[in-house]
Amino acid sequence: MPPSPQPPTVAIAGGGLAGLAAGCALAEAGFRVSLFERRPYLGGRASSYQHPGTGEVVDNCQHVLLGCCTNLLAFYRRAGVEDKIRWYEKLTFLEPGGRASEIAPSPLPAPLHTAPAFLRAECLNLRDKLAISRAMAALASSTPEDRGDSFLDWLKRRGQTPQAIDRFWKTILVSALNEELDQVSIPYAAQVVRESFLKSAAAGRMGIPTVPLTDLYSTAGDYIRARGGEIQFRASFESFQMDGFEVSVTANGQEQKFDYLILAVPFEALGRVLPDTPSSAPLLDALQQFSSSPITGIHLWFDRQISDLDHAVLLDRTIQWMFHKSRIIAARNQEMLNPDSQGKGGSYIELVVSCSRSLVEKSKTEIVEMAIREAQEFFPYAPDAVLLKSTVIKEVHATYSPRPGIDQYRPQPQTVWPRVFLAGDWTATGWPATMEGAVRSGYLAAEAVARFAGRKSVSFLVPDLAPSGLMRFFK
Ligand SMILES: Cc1cc2nc3c(=O)[nH]c(=O)nc-3n(C[C@H](O)[C@H](O)[C@H](O)COP(=O)(O)OP(=O)(O)OC[C@H]3O[C@@H](n4cnc5c(N)ncnc54)[C@H](O)[C@@H]3O)c2cc1C
Repeated sequence: MPPSPQPPTVAIAGGGLAGLAAGCALAEAGFRVSLFERRPYLGGRASSYQHPGTGEVVDNCQHVLLGCCTNLLAFYRRAGVEDKIRWYEKLTFLEPGGRASEIAPSPLPAPLHTAPAFLRAECLNLRDKLAISRAMAALASSTPEDRGDSFLDWLKRRGQTPQAIDRFWKTILVSALNEELDQVSIPYAAQVVRESFLKSAAAGRMGIPTVPLTDLYSTAGDYIRARGGEIQFRASFESFQMDGFEVSVTANGQEQKFDYLILAVPFEALGRVLPDTPSSAPLLDALQQFSSSPITGIHLWFDRQISDLDHAVLLDRTIQWMFHKSRIIAARNQEMLNPDSQGKGGSYIELVVSCSRSLVEKSKTEIVEMAIREAQEFFPYAPDAVLLKSTVIKEVHATYSPRPGIDQYRPQPQTVWPRVFLAGDWTATGWPATMEGAVRSGYLAAEAVARFAGRKSVSFLVPDLAPSGLMRFFK
């Protein structure tokens, strides 16, 4: 019998979601995957670790997904962790003082499914609601093009009231896109609104991981290993060069040859690993167009529960979201939450500030004091709660800014080097910097590798959720 052919080999630089998604897809398709990750754990910007100051395992920041994240969900299914996501249909908007407005779907067909809750919401007045409805109607019928102006310009042209902008548009979009409205491209903002509020109830539901992020994503490493691949930790990818029909890569000073290479590192890191030759110039020029925006997570441990909610959107203050981590985790463990337990049993809360440029220079003490002050305005039991420990995690380069015009610089997976491909949330996926965008980029790069290798019919991307109700009649 002739010896069976050796599987094609592929090196992947970066063990974030983009690299992991590409690695899982290619391992499944019979490629031998070697993944190089600089850190000692997987997940990249969506990871968790034991925090030295508190001794607690913390996520670098709370990550949420939506029902419309079809590729991320396919990735979870592949890695066997789909059941580690808890789903929520309802969002609670809290005003200072604690008044709550709940937005949840009704049986009405999309895009009207959230209309009854929206009309009842006390955090907006009638003028705000009429203005928002007009803008929503425009976004439901089509996605506006990027003509270089910002979503704030678009909102102002549509007569949005200051309160509608502050309490609705800004609240939703700054968290989703991690950028101020005057810096956000119109199609990205439109996409978020269409997917989360208009397309269908299923697209807009919110998922929260119930396990630490690295537990969620290290399973993807197991998946690659189980298919003959390897994960190298503390392996800093340094450079590559084409060598005939192979790619010669250097990591931690060691050179190895592979059939293919996927560079799945953030845009800030890519320039450092490209060859110092003129062929890198166009990509380096494109990288210059990208800028990033920070996110700050404030982790607080109290001696008691400060709220009965699992999560809430906080209006009119610096803090934008509250995630009641101990409740979310307890719910997974099927522990009965005792409604009378305020005052007993501690709680773990994470408060999140997206686009947190104003906090980058502030000290941990200043940020925690601000967070406690604001929490006391929103949560009934917070004034009596004793803070046991805290930490602040600033991700200064959290995500790329989805500015007007940026799309033209987001690269496709193919590069000028025929066997070298790109992945990462910042590449051309059509999605903003999200876990879904990162997984899509990984699948797109894996498809490009597989097609180059002659597997013409291979397809890893899964379709979007179909619009429901009246949204089926709009493009
Ligand atoms: C604070 C914060 C909150 C967020 N919240 C959400 C959210 O709620 N929902 C959501 O969908 N998205 C959220 N995101 C965005 C999401 O985390 C990212 O879009 C996604 O994880 C990016 O994945 P990636 O694989 O493209 O990049 P990365 O995760 O950055 O992965 C790149 C990997 O490459 C490694 N690397 C870099 N250089 C080298 C090298 N030379 N050699 C070897 N390895 C290298 C890095 O260590 C990293 O592991 C958030 C991001 C942050 C930072």
